[in-house]
Amino acid sequence: MEGLLSFGPGGALTLREDYHNHPESKQVLERYLEVLSPQGGVLYRNQRLAGQALGGNPIPGEGEGGYSSRSARLQDGTPVRMVSRRHTLDGRPLLLRLAYSEKPIWARFEELAVASVLAMPVVLALAGFAGYLLAQRTLAPLEIMARRAEQITSERLHERLPNAETGDELGHLARIFNSLLARLEQSFEQLRRFTSDASHELRTPLTSIRSVGEVRLQNNGSSDEYRDTIGSMLEEVNRLTALIDSLLTISRADEGRIQLHPTVFSAMDLAREAVGLFDVLVEEKHQKLVVEGNEDVSVKGDRVFLRQALVNVIHNAVKYSPVGGTIFVRVKHEPAGSLRLEVADNGPGIASEHSARIFDRFYRVDESRSRGPGGAGLGLSIAQWAVRMHGGDIQLLPTPAGCTFQICLPPASNA
Ligand code: ADP
Repeated sequence: MEGLLSFGPGGALTLREDYHNHPESKQVLERYLEVLSPQGGVLYRNQRLAGQALGGNPIPGEGEGGYSSRSARLQDGTPVRMVSRRHTLDGRPLLLRLAYSEKPIWARFEELAVASVLAMPVVLALAGFAGYLLAQRTLAPLEIMARRAEQITSERLHERLPNAETGDELGHLARIFNSLLARLEQSFEQLRRFTSDASHELRTPLTSIRSVGEVRLQNNGSSDEYRDTIGSMLEEVNRLTALIDSLLTISRADEGRIQLHPTVFSAMDLAREAVGLFDVLVEEKHQKLVVEGNEDVSVKGDRVFLRQALVNVIHNAVKYSPVGGTIFVRVKHEPAGSLRLEVADNGPGIASEHSARIFDRFYRVDESRSRGPGGAGLGLSIAQWAVRMHGGDIQLLPTPAGCTFQICLPPASNA
């Protein structure tokens, strides 16, 4: 624009006539052009303005040091976007204003708005339908899972929810439910086995008492024979009482109703106390029970339950060791402060295939072997429970002959 302006012979500002030939003349024609003196005197307005003012009086600083742009409105209401710039022509300062109409832009915008408003219901309907389809597809597996879950009862705990193999949130949910079902199934199975094993164990001594009594009643005998019968019946009653005591301990332990009363005491005292209970039995079998170890080692825990654990292990050693055997009870102090109680015998030992299961409830290596001394397979599981309650563990050490059980307990200060 600046290049096209010049002062005519009469001093009037003119735009070069031949600018229509200029390649960018179209732009000039399409734009509004106004040239003002710095004081606001109108020096030139192009035809498009049709005599209207473009932007009114100059604003202080307008067009100085570069282009200033703003929006304005012509008298006929046309919204325009305008740039101003100071220019000097033949030594005279000028303010050039060039603007274009925003009308076509607003017209487009209105068209777009109308089109959007008209299209909106269709778009919303489509989006709603697509959302419904998507929700149906997403929720279908959930529905299947819910139906399957409804069918799972305590008799069908082996069943699992589908879709557990997918990597999404539903798969995650299904896996969590399935692992819950697996745990429930295991607990139910354990409970079932426990009930049937317990019933079986209770039945055996009762059957024995009954048959011994019936036989005696059928065959009259001397008072000595009656005494013998009553003696063997009482033996079975003792066995029954011990079994019921064990079952009670286990069920109270399962319910978490057992409270420990920890105290600090000498480990050797505990070992001697436990061993003392077997004096009569050991004498009968001509066995030797030897306690050895460190007198200074102390242990912190519930004395009653720790003694019970040790007694159960020593009882097994006495029961299963041959006549004349020797059993060692050793108290060992570990450098880290923990304590080991070892019970070693020279009995028949336990084959490696059984060693993993001997701590299971009612598990007996050899039914016929255990029937004699009369164990129900609960002793070691109770011992394991008691030791674990104290933060320790019990294990069967691999030995070439006999059995060595080791009870590990944490240091007295930690327990
Ligand atoms: P039980 O009351 O029958 O002795 P336990 O739970 O105490 O039950 O022991 C489980 C099984 O482990 C026993 O039936 C027995 O077969 C085996 N067992 C345990 N201790 C010994 C041992 N010192 N020597 C040989 N076998 C043992």
